[in-house]
Amino acid sequence: MGEGLLARMRRGLERTGQHLRDRLGVAGGRMRLDEASWEALEAALLEADVGVRTTELALRDVRERARRHAAGAPGAGGAPEVWALLRAALIERLGPPARLASNPTGTTAVLVVGVNGAGKTTTAAKLAFRFKAEGGYPILACADTFRAAAAEQLAAWARRLGVDCVCHAPGGDPAAVAFDALKAAAARGAGAVIVDTAGRLHTRQNLMEELGKVARVMGRALPGAPHEVLLVLDATTGQNGLQQARQFRDAAGVTGVALVKLDGTARGGVALAIREELGIPVKLAGVGEGLDDLLDFDPAAFVDALIGAAGGAEGGEA
Ligand code: GDP
Repeated sequence: MGEGLLARMRRGLERTGQHLRDRLGVAGGRMRLDEASWEALEAALLEADVGVRTTELALRDVRERARRHAAGAPGAGGAPEVWALLRAALIERLGPPARLASNPTGTTAVLVVGVNGAGKTTTAAKLAFRFKAEGGYPILACADTFRAAAAEQLAAWARRLGVDCVCHAPGGDPAAVAFDALKAAAARGAGAVIVDTAGRLHTRQNLMEELGKVARVMGRALPGAPHEVLLVLDATTGQNGLQQARQFRDAAGVTGVALVKLDGTARGGVALAIREELGIPVKLAGVGEGLDDLLDFDPAAFVDALIGAAGGAEGGEA
């Protein structure tokens, strides 16, 4: 993935990093490791949407490491060290990089879920673009049969990408669309099927159940499908995203998150909360509206973008 995309994510999260640094006074002077500094750090992480539990666990970890560090090396334990310890603790909590699942023996089926406006359709198109760029033959499927506009939007992306699109008439059965798309993929030798779904309000139980049905029916058309249930989360919704993720996980067995709109938020910390509290890895990062604005999520690069370069303006090397 290009430098340019990473730079965009950095710019988006820059505000968070700046905020954290300002809070700690790292840019202006040296962080004092007193209670007030720890409290400021805690407040800054909470404001970045890292979440109460995750913030608490990470800071406990950092304090413990800082204590051990200082004991082993008198004079250590200043701001650059703490910054390095914080960086390491956050990266560790995100876990190793997780990639989108694939089906090595046939069509890879991806079910894209999320609330309205999150960025599902755009992310589905970006995924089709990626599969095509890798030499595959993707099919887009519109399982949002509630809105005619949804099918039109997806079909427009398909035309632009030069890929096939499976759509049914409005009011049709969403599961039937997914089923047909997988059958079409088998007949045409398509490497991937990306199923876009309706913006199911997570508060509407019947819609969530229907999402579970779409997944089950996909499994009947192709054993093992869907290989990936990708929840598209708008990073700008912050902690609300955690509640959404929990609902979608329970209804549809989410296997990965695409955290999008990271190019325009100071609240990307929700990635940490999702991993910590739900055990779901963030696999992709959306950093713009263009087709190539989708990155494999890289925990270390993300944390660097989130908390800023080590020691901020001090230019530390952590
Ligand atoms: P859906 O209702 O979940 O299908 O959402 P859409 O895919 O229609 O996206 C809603 C809006 O979010 C559109 O204006 C997209 O261009 C925009 N969008 C999606 N992903 C990103 C992203 O990573 N960054 C930015 N800045 N905008 C995005």
